[in-house]
Amino acid sequence: MAVTDAKGVVIIGANLAGGRAAEALRTAGYEGAITLIGDETELPYERPPLSKEVLTEPDTLPAQFYILDSADYAENNIDLRLGVRAERLDTVGQKVELSDGSEVAFEQVILATGARVRRLNIEGSDLKGIHYLRTLEDARALSEELKPGARIGFIGMGVIGAEVAASARKRGCEVITIEPLEIPMARALGPRFGAWLAQVHREEGVDVRLGCGVSSILGEQGRVNGVILNDGEQVDLDALVVGIGVIPNLELAEAAGLEIDNGIVVNEFAQTSNPAIYAVGDVANSPLYFGGRGRCETYQNAQDQAIFAARAIAGQAEPYLKPQWFWTDQFDINIQVLGDVISDAEVVIRGDENSRQFSAFFVQDNLIRGLLTVNQAKDMGAGRRLLERSIPVDTVALADVNIDLRQLLKKTA
Ligand SMILES: Cc1cc2nc3c(=O)[nH]c(=O)nc-3n(C[C@H](O)[C@H](O)[C@H](O)COP(=O)(O)OP(=O)(O)OC[C@H]3O[C@@H](n4cnc5c(N)ncnc54)[C@H](O)[C@@H]3O)c2cc1C
Repeated sequence: MAVTDAKGVVIIGANLAGGRAAEALRTAGYEGAITLIGDETELPYERPPLSKEVLTEPDTLPAQFYILDSADYAENNIDLRLGVRAERLDTVGQKVELSDGSEVAFEQVILATGARVRRLNIEGSDLKGIHYLRTLEDARALSEELKPGARIGFIGMGVIGAEVAASARKRGCEVITIEPLEIPMARALGPRFGAWLAQVHREEGVDVRLGCGVSSILGEQGRVNGVILNDGEQVDLDALVVGIGVIPNLELAEAAGLEIDNGIVVNEFAQTSNPAIYAVGDVANSPLYFGGRGRCETYQNAQDQAIFAARAIAGQAEPYLKPQWFWTDQFDINIQVLGDVISDAEVVIRGDENSRQFSAFFVQDNLIRGLLTVNQAKDMGAGRRLLERSIPVDTVALADVNIDLRQLLKKTA
C-alpha cells in the first residue's frame, strides 16, 4: 500500500474552499507537504457560473472558471489527487485512507467537503429529465434541456431555482416555478424583497406559483412529462429542475468523532473539536458576525474561511468573523446582500424600490445591520464600512440619493 509519509496538510474536498486553502497555505509561506484530495475529476472550479453563464452561453466555459491554472499546482508543489474519495480519517494514526487504496499521513487536515443536493423522495423522483444542480456535469446535462419553447418546471425557488429559472427564460424556455413558501428566496432575501423578486420573475414571463407543492410526478417511457400540483392541477413539462437545498457532507467528520451540529462545529479559527483538524466552507458550522452560529452556503465564506484556516496553520492565526455577503444574478439584475436582511430592523430605501435599481439598508438603533443592493453595487463599499465600523447613521441622509454615502463615513469618523 502506497503511503505518503511526508506529514503535512491534507485538504479533503477540492473545490472552492479546498483550492483556496491550498493556495493560501503557500502564500502564507507554509513549506510542508500539501495534498489536495477531491472526488470530482475536474480541476477545482467556480460553481456560481453553473446556474448562470454555463447555462446561458453553453458553448464556452467562462474565463477564470478554474480556481487555479493546472500549472499552479505543480509550481506550488501541491499534490493534487482528483477522482479519489477520502474514505476514513484516522486521527490516532494521523492518516487519511483513500478510495484508491492509498493513505496519506497528516499533521493537520482541512475538511472542505462541502455539501450535496437534497433529493426528492416522492414517486417518480427517479425518472429521466429530472435535474439537480451542483456540479459542472449537472450543468451540462441541464443545459441540454434548455431548448427554445421547452417547458421547464422547477420545484423550489431558492437561490438555485430562481437563478436557473432566469437562465432558462434567457434560453427561450417556458418556465413554471413551484415553491411551497409564500415567497421565493425567503431565507436569503426575507419577505419584502422576496416578494419583489417574485414580481420581477412574473414580469419576465415566469409562471410563479407560491404556497404550492407537487403531489406527484408524471412520466412516460421512463421520462418525466409533468407534475400534479397540490390543488390537483396537472402541469405538462419537458423537464423538471429540483432545487430544494443541500446536505453537508459530514460522514468523514462524524466517523472521526468530531463535534457536529448541522455542520462541523468550528471556532473562529476554523478549528474543529480536534485541534489538528480544520473545517471550512459550506460544511462548517461557524460563529456568526451578529452572534450565534450557522452554516453559510456562500462563495465569499468558502473562500475567506479557507484562507483564514490556511493562515492559522501557517502560524498567522486571526479570528475569522465577517458579515455574510453573497450575490445573485437573475435576468438583468445583480442583487448583493450583506449582513442581516431578514431581521425586523427598519428598512431605509435609497432609490426607487419599484424599479430595478435601488439599495435597502436594514437599520437598528441607528446602526446598519444589513444591506441589499439591486443593480447598485456601488453602495456596497461604503455600506460595508458603515456596518463593520458600527458608525451611527442618519436614516434621512441614508435615503437621500444626492448625498454620497462616503460623506456619512466622514461625518462621524
Ligand atoms: C449552481 C451554484 C451557483 C452558486 N452561485 C452562487 C452565487 O451566485 N453567489 C454565492 O455567493 N454563492 C453561490 N454558490 C455557492 C458557492 O458556490 C458555494 O458556497 C461554494 O462552492 C462552497 O464551496 P466548498 O468548497 O465549501 O464546497 P463544495 O463546492 O461543495 O466542494 C466540496 C468538494 O468536496 C468534494 N468531496 C466531498 N467529500 C469528499 C471526500 N470524502 N473525498 C473527496 N472529495 C470530497 C465534493 O465532491 C466537492 O467537489 C453557488 C453554488 C451553486 C451550486
